[in-house]
Parts: sequence; structure tokens; C-alpha cells
Amino acid sequence: GNDMADYFAMDHAALTAEKDRLTAEYKKFQDMGLKLNMARGKPGPHQMDLAMDLLKMDDYTTDDGFDARNYGNLEGLYEARELFADVMGVKPAEVFVGGNSSLQLMYNLMAIGFMFGYPESPCPWSQVEKRKFLCPVPGYDRHFAITEEMGFEMINIPMSEDGPDMDMIEKLVAEDDTIKGIWCVPQYSNPDGYTYSDETIRRFAAMKTAAPDFKIFWDEAYIVHHLTDEIIETPVLLNESKKYGTEDRVFMFTSTSKITFPGAGVSAFACSENSMKYICKRFSAMIISYDKMNQLRHVRFLKNKEGVLAHMAKHRRRLVPCFDAVKTTFEEQLTPCGDIAHWTNPKGGYFISLYVMPGCAKRVAQLCKDCGLTLTGAGSAYPYHKDPDDSHLRIAPTYPSLDEVETASALLCVCVRLAVVEKLLA
Ligand code: PLP
Repeated sequence: GNDMADYFAMDHAALTAEKDRLTAEYKKFQDMGLKLNMARGKPGPHQMDLAMDLLKMDDYTTDDGFDARNYGNLEGLYEARELFADVMGVKPAEVFVGGNSSLQLMYNLMAIGFMFGYPESPCPWSQVEKRKFLCPVPGYDRHFAITEEMGFEMINIPMSEDGPDMDMIEKLVAEDDTIKGIWCVPQYSNPDGYTYSDETIRRFAAMKTAAPDFKIFWDEAYIVHHLTDEIIETPVLLNESKKYGTEDRVFMFTSTSKITFPGAGVSAFACSENSMKYICKRFSAMIISYDKMNQLRHVRFLKNKEGVLAHMAKHRRRLVPCFDAVKTTFEEQLTPCGDIAHWTNPKGGYFISLYVMPGCAKRVAQLCKDCGLTLTGAGSAYPYHKDPDDSHLRIAPTYPSLDEVETASALLCVCVRLAVVEKLLA
């Protein structure tokens, strides 16, 4: 009927009628007393159930006869370093296996730069008065929180399907030695789900930086989180960088947070052996060794990259219908209204980016919240929570049940349409 016409072709009277109709629909959702959450990218209970067998283990002797229950092996158990080396495509000697959080490893490596600097640093980053960090946007809010807390000025870098704007990055880092690094989620980026192109990755390895201690925080949080049958693999930044002698600038991270348990998984980073020596020296003042019992449980359960991929295929069976439900609802409910929104179609990762008409994202999030649907705050995918267009919303369809995802998507569409109609009438 006429309720699905292009909003930009509607006159004032038609828009007012549409607003009344949407308001009535919104009220129906309000009366349902919903309590839904599509804010954080968390696995659902069924996904975590898939990994419970991991806990059924009582022998903690490693392959080389070491007792994993005791202190020792700061860099992690050798078999755990092998597992993550296999997943990340690097050598075991280049891998450090930590505790349950890769974000904590990122924080620690930032803190080392901040407090002491790296071997190539003219001074600790804390002493660089106008220190800066590059932030491809939209990006991961918790990355930006670290650099904000440590007093870096954050510079937005626009993203495209091939990765961040490399022309802009190359120009900035070549000229300014107060730019100390960049946050990257190169595979199935949070939140757009984009994978950097081979050429983007090569340029990261090759680029000239004015700062001798420029670091790339290369967060492979979603390296095995495929949502299609296509196993997308990219060049490995640490290996590429060796061709240009820039390997000391690369820190790659990953974890099993979205493979086994977010609260009790295992994290790792990869770097040059040169960087590894330096970082271990710094870490040894902080910790004797991480939880190697959990490392060994993960190795016995996941075995190798092939084992990880087989496990991820089980996740995929649950996740694909949830992602499809969101996209189908958007297509049915938003596309007929004209150019009021567009969204990403991720081939992996944990999120869908929804871009609504500029100036409407905050209003949409508020409308959803008042109806019992929590979304990540509008703007949170940007440094300082400032989306210059007030357009972006990050949708996380993984945690709720399929039923809940369907209800939440339908409500979200009503809120998007209502916010847009309000804007057009204003
Ligand atoms: N990096 C990215 C890009 C993420 O999206 C997340 C979680 O959502 C994390 C890191 C957190 O990882 P961890 O649980 O290993 O600290």
C-alpha cells in the first residue's frame, strides 16, 4: 500500500499520515515490554555450549613433559604458540600467548610505548606532547578508549571496502613523527565487516613513517570468523613487512574470545623476534606467567587451524540465520522507503553496520532504547563518540535468539523510519 512509498516523494500530508501510522506501530512494540539487546558482540549461549568439552581434562603435562599448572613459560606454552602461529600464519617463535583478553595485550603494548617507549623510540610516548594515533572509522570503541585514556589525539581515517584510505595514511605518517601508530581490524572489520585488500596490506608493510617507533596494532579478532563458505585469507602483515625491513612496527593480535569463551578464552600477539625479546623483558616485571592450564585445554580441544575452522563452522550454522534475519528485515522494511538507510553485508565477523539518513542515528538509538531495545550508543564507533554525520549504528545480531533478532530488527526498522519521517517533517 501507500505506506511503503519513497519518503522523498511524499508531501507533507503523506509524511504526517506515515508518522501517525509508525507511531501506532511503535506503541504496539512498547506495549510488548521488550528487553532486547543488540549492543555488544557477544556469542550466544549455544555457541559457548559448543566448547564445554574443553573443560573435560585432567592431565596438564605438556608435550615436552612440562607441568602446565606451575609457573614458567612467560611467552606461553610451545604448543599454544604453535596453534596461534598456525592461525595467524606466522612462526611459533613470533607468538606470545597470554591470558583471556587480547584487548589487555593491546593495552599492555600501548602502555609499554607510553611508559618506556620501544627500542627505536626517541622518548616514551608519554613525553611526546602532541602525540597522535590514527583511527580508521567506524572502528572498535575499546581501541579508541585506550588511546583516548593515554592522551593521544585521534585522527579519523575513512574506511572503504578495501580498508582505510591509504593515500591519506601514507601522507600523514610520512610528515608527522608525533603519529605513533594506527588501530586496524583487517579482517571482517568491526563494525563494517570489510577485509583489507592485498594492496592495502602491502602498503602498510611498505610505507615510510617519520616516527621511527610507529606501530601498527593489527587486531585479527575475526581472523577465522567466516560467515560464508568462502574462507577469505589475506597476506600476513608480519611476513609482508619483512620484505621491507619494517617488521618491528607490526603487532598482530587475536584471541579465542569468539571461538570458545569470551570470559575464559586465550589471547595471543605476534611480532618480530626482535620486538618479542624487548616485550618479554618488560612483561617479566608485570607477570611471571599466564594461565597455561587454559592454554593447554585450548590446544587439546582446538588442535590446529583446521580444528579451529571446523569448530567455527558449527558457530556459523547458528549465526547465519541471525545475520540473514537482520538483512532481510532491512530489505523488506527500509529499501521501499527510498534512500533512507544503507547497510553492510558482511562475509564474516560479528557486526552489520547500518547507516541511516545523516542526523538520525542518535534519535533511532533513543527510540529503540525507550522501547526496550539496547543498541550500541550512536557514535560509539568513532573516536570521542563523535560520528560527524550522526548516521552510523552498529548492529550485533549474535547474542539474542533468532526470534529476538527478528523482533529487534522489525522494531529497529520502525524506529529508523520514524526518525527519518520526523526529520523530513522538521
Ligand atoms: N578486538 C576487536 C576488534 C573486538 O571486536 C573485540 C571484542 O568485541 C576484542 C578485540 C576483544 O577481544 P578480547 O576478548 O580478546 O579482549
